[in-house]
Amino acid sequence: MLASIVIATAGPAAAQTNAVTYRVTFPEPEHHWLQVEATFPEAGRDPLVVRMSRSSPGRYAVHEFAKNIFAVEAYDGQGRALHAVRVDADSWRIEAPDTTVRVIYRLFGDEPDGTYLGVDTTHAHINMPATFLWADGLDARPIRLTFVPPAGSGWRPATQLFATADPFSFTAPNLQYFMDSPVELADLVVSAFTVDVAGRPSAFRVAAHSDGRQPDIDAFAASIARLVREQAAVYGELPEYEPGAYTFLLDFVGWAGADGMEHRNSTSISFPNLSMRTAEGRLHALDIVSHEFFHTWNVERIRPAGIEPFDFTRENVTCCLWLAEGFTEYYGPLLLTRSGFTRGAPTDDVAQTMASPARGVRSAVGMSEQAPFADAGIANDLTDRDRTYISYYTQGSALALALDLSLRERSAGSVTLDDYMRRLWQVFGAPRDPRPGYVARAYTLDDLRTELATVSGDRPFADDFFDRYVEGRDTPDFPRLLALAGFNVQPAAPGRGWIGDVRTRDISGGLIIGIDATGRRGTVPFHTPLYEAGIDEGDVITSIDGRPATRLAWSTIADHKPGERVTFSVRRRDGRQFDATLTIGSDPRVTIEPVETSGGTPTTAQLAFRQAWLGSRVEPR
Ligand SMILES: [Zn+2]
Repeated sequence: MLASIVIATAGPAAAQTNAVTYRVTFPEPEHHWLQVEATFPEAGRDPLVVRMSRSSPGRYAVHEFAKNIFAVEAYDGQGRALHAVRVDADSWRIEAPDTTVRVIYRLFGDEPDGTYLGVDTTHAHINMPATFLWADGLDARPIRLTFVPPAGSGWRPATQLFATADPFSFTAPNLQYFMDSPVELADLVVSAFTVDVAGRPSAFRVAAHSDGRQPDIDAFAASIARLVREQAAVYGELPEYEPGAYTFLLDFVGWAGADGMEHRNSTSISFPNLSMRTAEGRLHALDIVSHEFFHTWNVERIRPAGIEPFDFTRENVTCCLWLAEGFTEYYGPLLLTRSGFTRGAPTDDVAQTMASPARGVRSAVGMSEQAPFADAGIANDLTDRDRTYISYYTQGSALALALDLSLRERSAGSVTLDDYMRRLWQVFGAPRDPRPGYVARAYTLDDLRTELATVSGDRPFADDFFDRYVEGRDTPDFPRLLALAGFNVQPAAPGRGWIGDVRTRDISGGLIIGIDATGRRGTVPFHTPLYEAGIDEGDVITSIDGRPATRLAWSTIADHKPGERVTFSVRRRDGRQFDATLTIGSDPRVTIEPVETSGGTPTTAQLAFRQAWLGSRVEPR
């Protein structure tokens, strides 16, 4: 009953007084731990359950952030010690006769990337789910966070959290927003700029922990401004950034993880030793920015129902990472080309998809649902992922290309994938939830189908695309679609023999299948001559066409022509011996290049199609 009384009386003023507060100190940063003092005033719950998150927005496996916590102590409002009982791996139950509960804990972390915590004498790289305990039932409370940097460190913070008069204190309106708001504390170089779209100015900040000096970061900021304009042209406007600005957090120390992580009003980009002093380094960083910034619409606000609101206690599974990640993966390089930083079409993922042994094993929706296992999921046992899984980034990006070119073809260029994305923005992204950090209307798989019917004006077309390529296991006709823009899809190794890509290792008496010299294991892919011959991991090839089976003999199989035969003697793990005759196949790998590369000449129609697809929408060239 106490809880309901607290809610009933909580106006804006009351909400401020019962804010959850965190105070973060760094007693020994050289040992890679920090201390957090968390205060839950008027907790209103007896007992109070506090927990570390198991998962993190933008990640799909469980990460068990409780593993690095130690020295947990609990006190009441008068400073009397309370007993914190560990309920399970992630949570503690605190019997709280007083309504205010204070929990002090220490936490190790030396992994600066988009998911974890990194503390050392140069910085504190803080991802919130990896760092902060939170209490059941207090999700709607505002939060106030204060840092006390090490004396003499020169650190200053950058984050999408809301600023206060104290440069080391920030607020968040609720737990969802707080958890989405990473912080970089370091000797940062900051560059600020404004971009005007559709008559509305938006503020941006680049905060870099890198080798870059002020002119380097300013130069990088100018490139980002150009890219932001090109990205905004897809949607027609920039989202409103609740704290008043969007922040690019860059961390390029030598021990950083290679990562980019999207957030609602910021992105956290890390990469080991990426130099901001060179144009090459800045272009590499811009490539990551192009993907992450597209997420400010696609996934942060155009958001699939399965991850909204985010549940920090488990894996969050969604139908639609082929769109949330895959379409973003398509637009990242496309928008770099449109804004003049690179040349070429985003066709790499098409080539990978066409060559994947997993093509046709699961639908795009099925691949998305594999994310908890594929995105840093840990398996101690052997999986068959290398023949049954294709990344939703890769396959989704290829689907985006297929849909873009199909829409352009059937409308003679008047309807494109940009129109579809803009429609999704208007229906699902633009409507604001009154609570910052929440999305008012998350989309379902059916919603995506319906909006494609609306944008294309053709329900049967939308149904066919979703039935075959999204929910079904067909592959679009990429060679035909790419020919519209004057691109050729050709075998990468024509005439070269191929029996399937597998790991092999020399052992006494032959060549074992399904393990390589480093001990990495894998299965034999479906629909390959090896698979059709009944050979799989653990089998030992003892001879090849009567000669001893060695890695050298194995490599000469490629010299055969497709259609020729090769005979293996095989010893199975149970000791049984048999001969298998394989019909050599063709290597499925393809190259995708403009017709000019192989001496052809594109037609006027192909050149016009290509220019409309790859040309700038901001500065037509
Ligand atoms: Zn992404």
